[in-house]
Order: sequence, then structure tokens, then C-alpha cells
Amino acid sequence: METPELPAGIRELPVVGGDLALDFANTVDDPLGPERHDHIADYHGLLWWSLRVGILTEQDADRLLLRAAPRRTAPVLRRAHQLRTAINLAAGAVADGSVGVDVLPGWGVLRGVAGEALGECELVQLRPVWGFEAVESPLWPVGLAAYELLTGPRARRIKRCAGCPWLFLDQSKNGSRRWCSMDICGTDEKMRRYVARRAARRTHT
Ligand SMILES: [Zn+2]
Repeated sequence: METPELPAGIRELPVVGGDLALDFANTVDDPLGPERHDHIADYHGLLWWSLRVGILTEQDADRLLLRAAPRRTAPVLRRAHQLRTAINLAAGAVADGSVGVDVLPGWGVLRGVAGEALGECELVQLRPVWGFEAVESPLWPVGLAAYELLTGPRARRIKRCAGCPWLFLDQSKNGSRRWCSMDICGTDEKMRRYVARRAARRTHT
């Protein structure tokens, strides 16, 4: 499968969520910035992302690409975008501490995809495995990952970046991670600290 060509000025999508479902949620890059780009705006993009994060093998992606007639993939893309919105709503509510007593937002869509994923998988060496024959199959591991994340102990480690709307799993020992990536959103902070350290040194000499 060929690497999709990105428009001028658009970077390759950083994959920094630390969890498959959160990485899927973060597939609109620079969501609030001038270089906003949806990396799964078409079916080819969805296959490319799935290959990059290890859902699909090269052979799976090539096989699915051969089946990618627009009339078959249009509903898959709609579903993919619904799933992405649902994960952003659900995991976002957890990250923002706004989980109330009501049903978690996005849950209906997540439940649908996770249910399908379970219905279609085999368990091999205690891991769910799919054949990836159906055009919608790349969404299944994402749906199941979202279900597992939100219903397990890792849910309390879901955080939102302090500099952008992206979500990530904070796997630091003391739960102190603040940025989706230090390079992307943490650099201003890094610069501020550097300037502060220099100023502190100057006052000491
Ligand atoms: Zn960020």
C-alpha cells in the first residue's frame, strides 16, 4: 500500500495517545490550528492509519483496498467518524472529570462497534483476532479497545493535553504527564522553564 500524499505544510500524524482508541480519537491533527487535517478523511487514509498502528498487516490493507469501491466504503467512513466522535465524547468526559450519573456520551455508538467486534472475533492465545475480510473490519479493534479502556482500571489515566484537545493515557508513575507530546504542545512550557532557569542563574552570580 502506498503512503498517502499529504498536502503541503501538513505533517505526518503523530501517534502519541498510548492507547489504540485514543490514537483513533486523535486522527484530526492540529484540530484548532491553521494546519487542521483529517487523516482519515477517506478510506485510503483509514487503511493507512490502521496499517501504521498495527491493526492491519500490509497484506490486509492491500486486500481491503481492492474491495474499496466508494459505495461500500462511504458508510464505513461515516461509521469511522461517528466512532471517533463517540470516543472523543466518552473519553473526553472521563478526562475532563465530567462523567455524571447519566449514560456516558457516545456510549451507544461505542457499544454498537464493540458488540460487532466481539461478534466477529476469534480468541487466539487469549487475544481477539479478526480476519479483516470486511471493509468495516478495521474499526472493530478500535471499538473493542475503547470499550476495554473505558470499562477498566486504565480509564482513570485518561487525560486531555494541556495545550490541545487531544487525549492520551498517562502512564507516568506519578500521573504527571500534561502534554500529548512535549515536542508538539510542551515546547512553550519547556522554553518558559529554560528562560526561568537562566534568569535564576543570573540572579545567583
Ligand atoms: Zn497537545
